[in-house]
Amino acid sequence: MMAGTLILEHLSAARGQRATGMIPVDLGSATVQIPVVIVNGARPGPRVGVTAGIHGAEYVSIAALRRVAMSLDPAAMTGSLVASLVSNPAAFAARSIYVDPLDGRNLNRSFPGDPAGGPTERLAAWLYANVIAPSDRFIDCHCGDMNEALVSFTGIEETGDPAVDRVTLAMAQAYGLDYLVYGPTPGSTTTAAAAAGIPAVLGEVGGQGLWPEADVALHAAGLRRALHAAGLIPDPVEGPRRATRVLRAEAWLRSDTEGFWHPSVGVGERVAAGQGVGEIQDAFGAVVRQVVAPLPGVVLFLVTSLAMNAGDPLLAIAD
Ligand SMILES: [Zn+2]
Repeated sequence: MMAGTLILEHLSAARGQRATGMIPVDLGSATVQIPVVIVNGARPGPRVGVTAGIHGAEYVSIAALRRVAMSLDPAAMTGSLVASLVSNPAAFAARSIYVDPLDGRNLNRSFPGDPAGGPTERLAAWLYANVIAPSDRFIDCHCGDMNEALVSFTGIEETGDPAVDRVTLAMAQAYGLDYLVYGPTPGSTTTAAAAAGIPAVLGEVGGQGLWPEADVALHAAGLRRALHAAGLIPDPVEGPRRATRVLRAEAWLRSDTEGFWHPSVGVGERVAAGQGVGEIQDAFGAVVRQVVAPLPGVVLFLVTSLAMNAGDPLLAIAD
């Protein structure tokens, strides 16, 4: 084997090469095939792990990561990329919202996972061991799920290590999305990475089961800029970008009852504390819950399906 060769399971890329392939991952009750791209730069440098499709119906992020991973020029790169293009293949195939259909668990609440656990915990453990933990920087590409609209944003958290936090913030600012939101999400990819001292950024663009070119182009350009900030690619990248506002306070509102969801605000709209943001009605139109904003801020994401289940998210407000 040549020095500097990048290896992941049966994939192997010498310096200056790209390799692609389906990697089988045994989840106990089923084996899934994850499409993986590894790109080994001509010169040694940081290893960057990137995931998309942690939620299987988030298509903008899946389309954007494939575009970027397949178009990077390894001869111009310093360091390496390991990209998991569809990280939850069973959820992708089932067009599943939020959860892995193999056991009904949310993969992005299951990290760092358990190799002896159920299917979702095993999948999290494989992704953590192969894509997250060996990386020097990590990016997780998401968008609103099939039933969610959102404004574009990056999510990061502070680790208390200034060197880590500096790289994390630089990557998130380079992404160039509408908002930058602080705060951990226990069990998520990025919180598991941050706990291991790895600069980690969540990127969110688009949603509702669509993948319009404007959204894919924004996410792909943002991801390339973040890879530049990570030290992987040499050129400042052209492409769509937004002026970023930093938000520190965030509230996720969930429904405590099933019913028909009628939001009265739009995604990106600014709301006041105490303002009504929607109501849940019963099957005949009677209001069973009024939903009120607990803090002032911007509607970051909004569930857009009429059907609402007890425990499901309604919207998030951040300021
Ligand atoms: Zn997601």
